[in-house]
Amino acid sequence: MLALGKEFKLYVRTLARLLYPPACAICRIPLLIEENHVCNDCNDCIEAVHPPACVRCTQPLPPYGQNSSLCQSCKSTRPHYTQGFTLVLYQESTRTIFHQIKYGKKPWLLNIFSERLKGFASRLDMNHYDLFVPVPLDPKRERDRGFNQSKLIAQILKRYTKSPIRVESVLMKKKKTNPQSRLRRLERLDNLNNAFAVRNRKRLDGKRVLVVDDVFTTGSTVNECAKELKKAGAERVDFLAIGRA
Ligand SMILES: [Zn+2]
Ligand SMILES: [Zn+2]
Repeated sequence: MLALGKEFKLYVRTLARLLYPPACAICRIPLLIEENHVCNDCNDCIEAVHPPACVRCTQPLPPYGQNSSLCQSCKSTRPHYTQGFTLVLYQESTRTIFHQIKYGKKPWLLNIFSERLKGFASRLDMNHYDLFVPVPLDPKRERDRGFNQSKLIAQILKRYTKSPIRVESVLMKKKKTNPQSRLRRLERLDNLNNAFAVRNRKRLDGKRVLVVDDVFTTGSTVNECAKELKKAGAERVDFLAIGRA
């Protein structure tokens, strides 16, 4: 077979893109050549999580009259994680993207958040952490989907991190759970009780861990993960999620 030159391949790709432009993942209009996955207008609609927000669970706080950096919920029940970070509000546009990633099986759409993950990695001193640990999926669900989006997010983050942090899937899902958002509070606690286990306890002794998730909804999932990681000897557990519901 004839080997095609690099320039020729680029030419073909550009031509194909002009003739059959890909659609915006959110509003479906054809994308301009310089836009990737989402159009500029939709990208502008993805709202960042702004301060003031609770330092532990990132719940937005009222702009004035705050004399604490914690929300009411974190004041009354102390979670197992120490500090949390979320990047964007989980509104309609972000929900549409994650729906396509997970149910439309389009993991490449995670690149929409690459710049934001890069910014996060540059703002935070990553020497704080030894390990990035993705929230695990139910093994059958992961097989059906072909990937675990939280693991992919951790890998993108690692790409932008200069210190030698490893992504390690030390957590596993022991039982099938129902989506937390559809349950009442007590059902939620029961749903996640003993849902996770640590695969390799030796890896965690004295380690500082950043748990990585796609969307932070009620916080119970990350909290259960943090509980297990600490039981296994982790010194400190923080979390990062892209979306904040
Ligand atoms: Zn759009
Ligand atoms: Zn809080």
